[in-house]
Amino acid sequence: MRSGPSIRKVRDYASRTLRLEHYVTHPGDGRKRPQIPAQDLIWAQLAGQILQTTSFHGVERLVRSGTVRGLALSRSFSEDALAYFNERLDPQVTRDALVATARLAKCNKVFAGGSRIGLAVDGTSAGHTGSSTSVCDLCRPQRDDKDVVIGHRHEVAAISVVGVGVSLPLDVEPYGPGDSELVAGQRLLRRCVSSLGARFADYVAADAKFACAPFLNLVQEVGLHAIVRLKKNLPDLFGRAQVRFNSRPPDQTFEHRGERVEIWDEGGFQPWEGLNWRQVRVIRYLQYRAGKTTIEAYWLTDYPMDEVSSQALFKMAKSRWEIENEGFNEAKTRHGMEHICHHDANSVVVGWLLMALGIVIERLYRNRYLHRGTHPVRSAADLVVILRLALGRRLHDTS
Ligand SMILES: [Zn+2]
Repeated sequence: MRSGPSIRKVRDYASRTLRLEHYVTHPGDGRKRPQIPAQDLIWAQLAGQILQTTSFHGVERLVRSGTVRGLALSRSFSEDALAYFNERLDPQVTRDALVATARLAKCNKVFAGGSRIGLAVDGTSAGHTGSSTSVCDLCRPQRDDKDVVIGHRHEVAAISVVGVGVSLPLDVEPYGPGDSELVAGQRLLRRCVSSLGARFADYVAADAKFACAPFLNLVQEVGLHAIVRLKKNLPDLFGRAQVRFNSRPPDQTFEHRGERVEIWDEGGFQPWEGLNWRQVRVIRYLQYRAGKTTIEAYWLTDYPMDEVSSQALFKMAKSRWEIENEGFNEAKTRHGMEHICHHDANSVVVGWLLMALGIVIERLYRNRYLHRGTHPVRSAADLVVILRLALGRRLHDTS
């Protein structure tokens, strides 16, 4: 009996504990006469994400390296098979699997106890090409300061579960030419909350781009609270909050990760035209490191003063960074988000969703399943080394 983590064990964990077996065998395959089982093509891509080998070429190399059994696959295949498969895969089935996994995690008390569950929404770009013409429907032109098209890239709004100790990407919504991050973010939020259920999360955290009436009204309409960065793009509210907070000492001071935080907190600001809130509450915090102000930020929310403390709001505001750090940053540096495996609109979206699901499986396996007892959580980089070594050993054992 071999102990320690392996890709086969991750597959068992995903199938049984996360109940993804039905998804892996029925992932929305749109091929007419499939030769290679869909589960092999899906699992190879999820395993590729977990092993941080994400290009089609890299996945082909993995499955052709004699480790088919170690990867929990039934046969090897070429990268062309992945391209053909993803072009025809229904993205909704993977979206449903992501939502079901997040709901299961909540039911199984995987989230840190007692804290409110957040959904962070944000946009990013990926897949830059230097081409002056678009290749797929999602390609958005990039222009220089003389308005000359200098390339194309894909842009996407994403949503993650945040504020619960383990960040879980949930869904993505691309926005092509003529569309916008804000509108895509609204479609995404509506879709996610309708499949998660209104009681799944408590609040939505977003940066200042989303501090506008249509988005904030939608957050309220779907039964959630909003905590959104306030900047000069709302000059009137921003100015009024500055005047009030500058005229008095902080309402509260506390420690956050060894740093002193001063916070101002006031409700009762008048909503601007179009915003359906009864009133707006604004916080400002100053964070100090070694006696110097390192961060100053303003946030607005519809949480009433008597329902959520200043310090709890501060934590919710901070949870927004998870979609940048554990979300886009990890996706781009470790999970190949910048790379276009197959340049076709459906394949691009499917690729992002499989990346999200691979990340979710890896995080739950590493942070929750492996992390029983008191030893520290393994880093993602450490787990990749262990999983690759386990594959290498299998390669030896079977040769
Ligand atoms: Zn494109």
